[in-house]
Parts: sequence; C-alpha cells; structure tokens
Amino acid sequence: MILVSKPKILIIGAGYGGMMTATRLIKELSPNDADITLVNKHNYHYQTTWLHQPAAGTLHHDRTRMLIKNVVNPDRVKFVQDTVKEIKPNENKVITENGELEYDYLVIGLGFESNTFGIKGLDENAFTIRSVDSVRKIREHIEYQFASYNHDEVPNDDKLAIAVGGAGLTGVEFVAELANRIPELCREYDIERSKVRIINIEGAPTILPNFDKELVEYAVNQLESKGIEFKLSTFIKECTKDSVIVQEKDSEDLEEIKAGTIVWTGGVKANTIVEKSGFKTNRGKVEVDDALRSKEYDNVFVVGDCSLVMDKETNRPCPPTAQLAMQQGVNLAKNIRHILHNEPTEPFVYKNKGTVASLGAGDAVAVVGNKRIKGAPAAALKKIVDDRYLLMLGGVGLMLKKGKLNLLK
Ligand code: FAD
Ligand code: NAD
Repeated sequence: MILVSKPKILIIGAGYGGMMTATRLIKELSPNDADITLVNKHNYHYQTTWLHQPAAGTLHHDRTRMLIKNVVNPDRVKFVQDTVKEIKPNENKVITENGELEYDYLVIGLGFESNTFGIKGLDENAFTIRSVDSVRKIREHIEYQFASYNHDEVPNDDKLAIAVGGAGLTGVEFVAELANRIPELCREYDIERSKVRIINIEGAPTILPNFDKELVEYAVNQLESKGIEFKLSTFIKECTKDSVIVQEKDSEDLEEIKAGTIVWTGGVKANTIVEKSGFKTNRGKVEVDDALRSKEYDNVFVVGDCSLVMDKETNRPCPPTAQLAMQQGVNLAKNIRHILHNEPTEPFVYKNKGTVASLGAGDAVAVVGNKRIKGAPAAALKKIVDDRYLLMLGGVGLMLKKGKLNLLK
C-alpha cells in the first residue's frame, strides 16, 4: 500500500481572516483532505474592532479575547503559538521565533501595523490601538496620570490632557469612549472634569472623512457636548515625550499641544513582514487574484489587511476592514477545497454591508446601503454587527458567552 502524505495548509495570523479561514476549512474539508496548522503569536484571538473600548477603559480587555483552542477544534487544526519572523515563499517555509514550518499551501493573515508615515517622534512617544497588549498600556498609562496627578508637588493639568492624532473611525471611536470614561476617572481621583482636555487632531477638514455631512455634524455635536475638542485641517508634524507639534493647513506656524497621553490613530499599513519577505507589494499589501491567491506564488493566499483587493463597485481598493477579512476567509476555505479537489475556484466578490461608527455607549452613526442611521438604533446595530461575527466564528454558544447583546447576563 502506498501512503500519500496529506497536503499541509499553514495559516499565519489568527485575526478575522485567519480565524474565519481556519473554522471554515474544518467545515469544508474532511480530516483526510489536509493537515491544517494555525500559527499566532498569542494563544488567544482578539476582537480588534472592539479595541477602542479597553484602550479607554470602558470594557475589560478579557471581553475582547478568547482562547483559540476554545474556538478552533484542536483535533482538526494544530495550533502553534509562535511569532512569524519571515516567509520564504520560494522554499515553502515560514521562519518563526522558535523554528520553521513547511507548507504546501500558505494563508497569510498577519493583519496590520500602525502607519506613522515617518512623522518624527511618533514611534517612540505615541501609543497605538492595535492589539490587546497595546491598548492595555494606554488604559494603564491614563489611569496612572490621573492617579498621580494630586500627588505631584505642583499638579500640572497638561498631564491629564489626551491628544489623539487622526479622526478617522479609530480616532473617533476612541475619543467617544474617553468621553464616557474620563468623568469616571475624575470622580475616582478627585479631579475636576474641566481640567481634562481631550483633543482630536485631524488633517482633513472633517472627522470621519467617509461619512456624509449630516452624520458628521451629528457626531461632532454629540462629542463636543461631552467635552471633546476637534482640531481640523491640522496635521501632526512631530511628537515629543509630552506634546504634539501641529500645523494648520495653509499656515506656516507651528503650535505645541502639551499632553500627558498621546495616541496615534492616523492610519494603518499591512504587516511589514510581508514586504520584508520579498513579496511584490502595492502600498505594502499583496495584490491577489479572484481566488485570493498571490499573483507571484500559486500556493500562497492572502486575507485581511495584508491583501489588496479591488472593490468592483467602486473600482477602488477595498478599505482594510474586519468585514472584508471575514468575507475573504469564508470564500478562501471554499476555494482551498476546490483546489484540493481539482475543481474551478469561486471568484471572491466583496459585498459592502455598511459602516457603523460608535460614538460611545448607546450612540453611533451608520451608513447601510442608502440608509443613514444615528443614535440608539445605530448603537444597537453596532452590537448586532459585533455579535454576528461571533455567531459566524463560533456559533450561538460563543455569541452568548462573549457577545454584547448580553442575552445571558
Ligand atoms: P488582525 O485582526 O490584525 O489579526 C492579525 C493576527 O495576526 C493577530 O492575532 C496578531 O496577533 C497576529 N500576528 C501579527 N503578527 C504576527 C506574527 N509576526 N506572528 C504571529 N502572529 C502574528 N473593521 C470593521 O469591519 N468594522 C469595525 O467596526 C472595525 N472597527 C475597528 C476598530 C478599531 C479600534 C480598529 C483598530 C480597527 C477596526 N476595524 C474594523 C478594522 C479591522 O479591525 C481590521 O481590518 C481587521 O482586524 C483585519 O483583520 P486581519 O485578519 O487582517 O488581522
Ligand atoms: P484611517 O486611515 O481610516 O484614518 C486615519 C485618519 O488620520 C484620517 O482621517 C487622516 O486624515 C488622519 N491623519 C493622517 N495623518 C495625519 C496627521 N499627520 N495629522 C492629523 N491627522 C492625520 O485609519 P483608522 O481610523 O485607523 O482606520 C483603519 C481601517 O480600519 C479603515 O479601513 C477603517 O475603515 C477601519 N475601521 C473601521 C471601523 C468601523 O467600521 N467602525 C472602526 C475603526 C477602523
């Protein structure tokens, strides 16, 4: 009897794209079809889309994460906790901190990094919202600033100020959480609310540049009424240990804004491991074909923020979202089955299901098709979107355990 070894499928990164691919592959393939391995730097998967909350301290970070072994059946997918250092696509190998892994098919789902565009001092001095580790640091730092303020010989209000660079979706969702959290911290540490500035600095003339005027106006009014200051048409030029240097559009003057906490939410880029591994990239991302396959290597697939996919409706690159990564994972699992069974693949077509921007507890703005929604209904929609992901990933059990609709709590 000749024993033919099973093809090895290696998934790197357990974010939305990697997790969706892994859980769907279990459904698409029989155990005899392939050996599947999932590598991730932590033993848990986290909900990146919720990270603005633990960053501000309005939700414990444990609510955003779950052990991978509880979601991805370990009898079907071998989980390896390790950090990927390099991909060697010509040798079908992935180099990790602790060794190397071989594959016949590779799925890259390593996600995003913050993009600081080479702005002086940002990498060294600003916090970013990108992982459980990074947001835990923000929450602890802010709490420390508040806890120590009244113990300083000469309390300095600048210590309490929080400067947030970038008022895209991440920046706005974060300052909205801060608007709810800061009054609590003020009460806890006996500080007057009026002493705390939260300044959101945005280069564009508007916050949430992709939302229409009516929703943006609503969001600005809601957040300003809770004490958020917006500085629009203003670019961060430099970041120091305790300040940001900004410049208004069309002005020569620079202004220094002092802040004890500086958080950069000015943009993202694909995980740089991809580019460093020698893949041809476009804006740091790998261009993929209709089957989400790299155009250079037939056996390498890319999902999520590392992939560059065109939206056929707008003819522009799809924005890097969890929505996109999940849809890709579902499609890719089917296509890997087709490939293993020598069947034609199903082209990936992105379906934009809309965008909801949270404005803190009970408030949000949303665009769904041609509908514009604001306030409590939009906030409810956000919870539904969040819980839908959990439902797709781990079924009703996971949704009830980790979801936001709190059906069991
Ligand atoms: P990620 O979710 O970034 O996951 C990558 C995984 O790879 C992580 O588990 C990471 O630990 C692991 N990893 C990274 N490097 C290595 C390595 N070297 N070795 C091993 N493992 C590694 N999108 C939406 O659609 N809706 C939203 O409401 C929304 N809200 C957001 C809110 C915030 C605050 C932020 C920051 C983003 C939000 N996004 C949202 C965007 C969305 O989170 C990303 O597009 C999505 O996370 C990308 O998924 P991914 O699978 O590519 O990677
Ligand atoms: P982004 O690139 O969408 O927004 C960054 C903002 O920072 C932009 O408005 C930009 O003008 C501004 N900026 C850049 N450089 C600046 C400078 N020097 N000074 C001042 N402002 C500057 O980044 P993001 O908000 O982190 O979003 C990343 C991705 O994640 C996007 O695709 C977004 O759609 C997605 N996301 C979605 C949600 C949601 O659906 N609720 C939430 C967060 C993020």
